[in-house]
Amino acid sequence: MNDNNRATAPSSGDALLNEFKARWRPLVFLLSGPSGVGKDSVAERLLREPEAGGIEGLKVVVTATTRDRRPGEEDLVHYEFMTRDEFVEKNEQGYFVESATVYGPGNLYGVPKHQITSKIAAGINPLIKIDVQGAATLKQKVPQSVSIFLVPESIQSLHDRLRHRNADDYDAVQRRLRAATHELDHFPGFDYVVINRTGKLDETVEQIRSIIVAERLRNSPLAPPRL
Ligand code: 5GP
Repeated sequence: MNDNNRATAPSSGDALLNEFKARWRPLVFLLSGPSGVGKDSVAERLLREPEAGGIEGLKVVVTATTRDRRPGEEDLVHYEFMTRDEFVEKNEQGYFVESATVYGPGNLYGVPKHQITSKIAAGINPLIKIDVQGAATLKQKVPQSVSIFLVPESIQSLHDRLRHRNADDYDAVQRRLRAATHELDHFPGFDYVVINRTGKLDETVEQIRSIIVAERLRNSPLAPPRL
């Protein structure tokens, strides 16, 4: 083979390199942590357009809930809002891959299967914001999950955030704070732990970006989830 031929004929090396370029891992990213830790703020940054600092090929999963809508929340944007009866019926029909009662009294939350499968089919990695028990369930049911545990720098900072967002009454804040202490105990089950330091959102986002990039570059084959 002369040099000309070498330049035009695809070698097995090129075939392999093309394979590497086409490689895509059907990962599902779970962003978990106590209520009020900043999951929404972090996710909002990661999900921006790449030119605005977001990550390409990542989309948020809209989960379902029976809780009341907070001011500014939109159906199918922030949650798929439904009545308890609707939720129970859909659950019986196998609509959810995971469902749970979160932070009582009796609010149901669930992850619709189609939210994951449609994104994976389109070559997009789903990002699921979920509480600690839900992350554990999903990790078990979806082995392609990468779980990230976001923790506050102190319980006081969590308290301040919950108070300032004005989303819950006093009792609800206390309930969420009590739950946080138990939830922090679950860190060993997570793949990664990231501290969301007060006033350091950029740093938190960068650390999570590094996790996503590294997981995408891992050299191990992965089949899409079967839900
Ligand atoms: P909030 O009522 O403040 O929007 O959410 C309460 C908690 O429920 C948050 O930690 C949120 O991430 C979590 N959550 C949202 N959707 C789901 C879900 O489908 N399943 C579970 N287990 N938790 C969820």
